[in-house]
Amino acid sequence: MAKKKAPKRARKPAGKQRKRPQPKARTAKSKPRRAAAKIARKTPPRTKRAAKKPARKAATKGKRVLKPAPRKTLPPATRVIAQREPAVKKLVLVFLGPPGVGKGTQAAKLAQALKLPHISTGDLFRDHMKRETPLGLKAKEFVNAGKLVPDEVTVGLVEDRLQRGDCGQGFIFDGFPRTVGQDVELGKVLQRRGEQIAAALYFAAPDAVIVERISGRRTCRQCGAISHVKFNPTRVEGKCDLCGGETYQRSDDAADKVSKRLEEYAANTGPLVERYRSQGLLREIDATKGVDEIFAVMSAVVTRL
Ligand SMILES: [Zn+2]
Repeated sequence: MAKKKAPKRARKPAGKQRKRPQPKARTAKSKPRRAAAKIARKTPPRTKRAAKKPARKAATKGKRVLKPAPRKTLPPATRVIAQREPAVKKLVLVFLGPPGVGKGTQAAKLAQALKLPHISTGDLFRDHMKRETPLGLKAKEFVNAGKLVPDEVTVGLVEDRLQRGDCGQGFIFDGFPRTVGQDVELGKVLQRRGEQIAAALYFAAPDAVIVERISGRRTCRQCGAISHVKFNPTRVEGKCDLCGGETYQRSDDAADKVSKRLEEYAANTGPLVERYRSQGLLREIDATKGVDEIFAVMSAVVTRL
């Protein structure tokens, strides 16, 4: 029956039919292969399979293994669909490090270079509070009461942010998660989205280095320009280079305040650093170097992910 159908379907492959007997004769040499071919032939119509298989065999016999044909690029429409498949690996990065270590600067630079959104929970809080969204109002309650914002609220803000269209290729978290609890909640969100953290980049510098960096900062009262008594001093001590205004040390930048923030950070985030280390996600980056040098090291780390 199959024989009758084939010629009816198309007259053109008449040439192909003539070729068929030849390869068949070759397959007769290898019994197991022939058996396999037979099984394969059972379901689909003979024509195509019979013609293809022996051709491949002939190639292997001559010891010249044919490489599979190069994949043709898909037509544009198909490509869009393919990108949504989970096979596309999103780059989800977490930037960790004590306050003042410079991770925010690096996160912003990398986000720009990779065209990924730079997500800082501080920015999200400010934005939601300003727009007085339900989440923003909830967060405000805690902040006004001088309490820590619960993890559900913080992670809720993040989940809301991830729903925007710019998160399709991945995203960079700056200063989030801050605690193991937040990371656990984040894990649930990412799992729902079929995503996972690719790496946690930990920017490390001794406390003394950070204290020196921050406590040496001076801000201009008139124009807000920032200088540093040691690393970027003004031409005249206490006078802004740009506008001549008086420079001062912000109260947040005082050495004792910085030390206290560093202690708090170590207590909250230390366990999270260990958690990422045990999961094999931690990548430590020496943050005592200059901005460009740190960026080069970080880029190399990310490229290897
Ligand atoms: Zn100034």
